[in-house]
Amino acid sequence: MVDGQRPTGNSPRRLASLLVFAAALSACGGAHPTRHNLILITLDTTRADRLGCYGAQSVATPNLDRVAASGTVFDSAFATAPITAPSHVSMLSGTFPPFHQVRDNDVAVVPDGVQWLPEVLSRHGFETAGIVAAQPLRAAMGFSRGFQYFGDQFEAPKGSLIITNLHTVGVVSRPGDRISEEFTLWLNDRRGSGPFFVWLHYYDPHWPWHGGRGYADLYVDAPYDGEIAFMDDCIGEVLQSLDRAGLGEDTGLVVIADHGEGLMDHGELTHAMLLYNSTLRVPFIVNLPWLDSQARRVDVPVSGADVMPTILDALGIDVEGPAGVVQGRSLLPLLAPSPPAGAVEPFRERRLYFETFYPFFHYRWSPLSGFIQGTTKYIHGPVDELYDLSGDPEELASLAESSELAEPATRLGELDSELRRGRPEVRRYLPSRDEQAKLQALGYLGSVATEDPETIDDRRALPNPNKEMETFFKYNDILGLIQRGRRADALEIAASIAAADPNQKDARLTVASLSAQLGRVESADRAFTDLVDDFPDKDVLYKAGVYFQERGDLGFARQCFEQLVERDPRDVEAITALAEIAVSEDRLDEARRHFENALAQDPWFREAMLGLALLLDRQGDAEAAGRFAAVASRYPFDPLVHYDYGVYLLRNGEASRAVEHLRLTATVSRGPLFAAAQFALAAYFEQRGDIEQARACLREVVVNTDNPMALRRAQTGLEALANR
Ligand SMILES: [Zn+2]
Repeated sequence: MVDGQRPTGNSPRRLASLLVFAAALSACGGAHPTRHNLILITLDTTRADRLGCYGAQSVATPNLDRVAASGTVFDSAFATAPITAPSHVSMLSGTFPPFHQVRDNDVAVVPDGVQWLPEVLSRHGFETAGIVAAQPLRAAMGFSRGFQYFGDQFEAPKGSLIITNLHTVGVVSRPGDRISEEFTLWLNDRRGSGPFFVWLHYYDPHWPWHGGRGYADLYVDAPYDGEIAFMDDCIGEVLQSLDRAGLGEDTGLVVIADHGEGLMDHGELTHAMLLYNSTLRVPFIVNLPWLDSQARRVDVPVSGADVMPTILDALGIDVEGPAGVVQGRSLLPLLAPSPPAGAVEPFRERRLYFETFYPFFHYRWSPLSGFIQGTTKYIHGPVDELYDLSGDPEELASLAESSELAEPATRLGELDSELRRGRPEVRRYLPSRDEQAKLQALGYLGSVATEDPETIDDRRALPNPNKEMETFFKYNDILGLIQRGRRADALEIAASIAAADPNQKDARLTVASLSAQLGRVESADRAFTDLVDDFPDKDVLYKAGVYFQERGDLGFARQCFEQLVERDPRDVEAITALAEIAVSEDRLDEARRHFENALAQDPWFREAMLGLALLLDRQGDAEAAGRFAAVASRYPFDPLVHYDYGVYLLRNGEASRAVEHLRLTATVSRGPLFAAAQFALAAYFEQRGDIEQARACLREVVVNTDNPMALRRAQTGLEALANR
């Protein structure tokens, strides 16, 4: 399914043309004289010790080092969870996971009842833009809330977008240069002249490591480091764009990682499984150029949950809402070059919570949680651990034997209930107990318990993730084999893990996904059906639904999506999928109702906006034109939107506007739509008898594509034109 989807076109020439295009859009910005801009840059999977400003010798990170040199570097910053979605929700809401309850990727939507940083800033007149690089942060999971522009277009076919998982098949993502280019386009295109808040997310250091484009040769033995060097390079583009627009002095930067990476510390290659500082400690840099002076380094422990209140404070905005709803703290007092002791002490006394529920959701191993207070770190699992980070920063000697654990355990319990106080309702992603009982009675639920890990009192009854690293190494083997293209071998290992322990959701998802990719339809069908029985959470139901939709079993696909909508009537992805199924089955009025329902939940949900425009066009409804225009204006750099709009305009005799949108598609696309747009343009010019222009479009494909099919088609087209 993923095969043959290599993106086309990526040459320096296209980059140059993109930048020319950006310049042509004319910057009309200019900062408001009294209000500052702020850019939050989140670095996925970045260990602090891999940045020059944190002492790394062997990785070149000149751009981040420059930001650090004139800003404040936090030496003891900790993620609230070593996993992307939960950690980002903490950063953007100022709350810890027991409050916001987004405890894994792809399962829970950001709850309404949190104060979401982009929404607060939007209310205060900031122009807001979010540009993300990986699908756990996609709009449908709630991350687009409050952003007037949100870029999460992965240009991957839906099937490959969804049939993935973190530790085996990989997550659909896009490279850092794409993020920086989109930022530049946005910056130059923005209409307002008021202050802005931008969130940029870079995913490059996340597994699988390719070494970073242009850096692989320099980091042959350290591909992870190469990805970080590449990411730093991309961030340099952002800084340059700001300077070119004359905004550098007026734009604050907050740079933080969502978590680190194990790199085999404590036997963990990647992240999400354990709670050691290789994955919990993160780089955190704040640079506010409008401050007269700034502290250089701060060693007081701080948390990802401090990002939101710090940014609001830096922009002069009071944290709103009832007290306690924002649990992190503004770090502004710590930015003073020599803060009074009274300002620092409360920070030292804080208990900073962290957790991972990932081992439970994916393997039915024990969840882990803990806190850091000063230099003490406590981890609660089947076997509790206690470290003194001042003497043992690598957490090699747990003091648990020699010291009393009852006290930290009590304090963690208190902290946990304190953090849950007043927490919001969440949209349901797991079956309720009643629903489970009903499914069980019908013979639907398999052997695997689907409980809420929060309710597990005794973690000793569950396998200890620390002791299960042996199994986890097999997952590393699967990763490696997939990376080398040996998917059949990878499938065999995954199948053996799943056979030995049906609780291994990741192994079973891997079996299902790889079987599908290898064309083993029967095994894929069975694997997905069994997964739906055993793990009927949002993640599995949606993936299974997409799988059956792609392979044409629309009945079963519909069941999966209907189950999701029944559980969460606002699940826009599932509602939109039901609309798409109705379109395939020619039930167009029903499809329209579903699309309209999706847009009632989220008026900016791209798939539903575009789907409805296409449907109205198909029904010959003149309203289509307005719908296309609306989605194109909301998503000005989205190749699929402009491609569909261009084709629509072409068919409706609006040639010059069609050409505009198709050219824009070719400019912003890094995927198959680049060639598709050029082919559409070539056909149009040829039909008009403008052979020169037609040739030029086909030559663009020849020069830029790395897709053999597109190349052959362009060459054949050029030969045919040569005879005219
Ligand atoms: Zn992450």
